Amino acid sequence: MASKELSERKLKEIEEVARGWGKLLAREAYPEGPGLDVSLADMEDVVARATRAIVRGAVETMTDDQADDLGQEAACPSCGRTCRLKRKSRPLVVRGGQATLDEPVGHCPTCRRDFFPSASGAAC
Ligand SMILES: [Zn+2]
Repeated sequence: MASKELSERKLKEIEEVARGWGKLLAREAYPEGPGLDVSLADMEDVVARATRAIVRGAVETMTDDQADDLGQEAACPSCGRTCRLKRKSRPLVVRGGQATLDEPVGHCPTCRRDFFPSASGAAC
């Protein structure tokens, strides 16, 4: 998937967008400013929680887009029969947080097996 890697320029743009979100987050958390009684640790707690939510939202959106790209059907990797795909939720720990993947899974009635289609081919 090297051809789909984001360029350094694009990654820097994303960092700038996220930095802007950080400023918005600060204003959302403390509309009047944090005041002198809020410690740096308190600020970090708020930010860490928001960061985990950003990771979850981004990873779930991107993996959901990939699942949509696979379509509604896939060929069974054993017999080649076209099988309908369903979605199966799977909680997953990712860098910086947790996400729930809504993965496509096929079930072949002929082979009596489940399979997980992917863009690079089916995997079991
Ligand atoms: Zn099959």
